[in-house]
Amino acid sequence: MNVRAVPCLSDNYAYVLVQDGHAVVVDPSEAAPVLAALEGLTLDAIWLTHHHWDHVGGIEALLARGAVPVVGSRHDLAEQRIHGQTVAVGQGDTVRFGALEGRVHDIPGHTLGAIAYEIGGALFTGDTLFAGGCGRVFEGTMPTMRASIDRLAALDPALRVWCGHEYTVKNLEFAQALAPEPAVAARLDAARALRARGEPTVGHPLADERATNPFVRWGAPAVQAAAARLGADPTDPDAVFGALRAAKDRW
Ligand code: FE
Ligand code: ZN
Repeated sequence: MNVRAVPCLSDNYAYVLVQDGHAVVVDPSEAAPVLAALEGLTLDAIWLTHHHWDHVGGIEALLARGAVPVVGSRHDLAEQRIHGQTVAVGQGDTVRFGALEGRVHDIPGHTLGAIAYEIGGALFTGDTLFAGGCGRVFEGTMPTMRASIDRLAALDPALRVWCGHEYTVKNLEFAQALAPEPAVAARLDAARALRARGEPTVGHPLADERATNPFVRWGAPAVQAAAARLGADPTDPDAVFGALRAAKDRW
């Protein structure tokens, strides 16, 4: 299976999973670039990580080419908030693409219906786990979001992470300002170099998040010390996580 990152809107990524002339689209933000990426491919399904407009805007145009299953979370189907959703999935459920079998992870916090898809060595995290950061907590609580980030971070470190936005440089700038560490600085340099060449920073190993993402590393001494400076109890993981997220919201 190949993964093609399709830049959409100002900083979104839709993803086209390709195998033997067939495709699955994850989070079609808008129609035109996704339709162009699908040229010559047979679309098997559309998978959504959550219901936000910048992830679902292209669904209608894709369905106009022919009906395909539209997969999203149970919560989002119950809320009827993903256009054309036909399949509802949740924690541990299986998704299939050709002979590949993948699984779904519930990751509430950014929204209550947020889910991740793990398939073929790839992990699609939507707006929950970003490269070097995490999404805003709109519908869940800080403990809910932390549990979701932990759930993703505990998966196979060799998985390639494909997230919903190109926020990597800004996220790592925040991480570096919060708690400067050589691994964070090195990753920030690498991300800036990729962006200078117009290339995506995503598709990196999950291990990079364990090494450099402060929202994954709420237990690291440098991150706990930074949280303490922000007024949080460094021994309380939810307080540390919440202080980091609140600081990032203001940053
Ligand atoms: Fe979102
Ligand atoms: Zn988004």
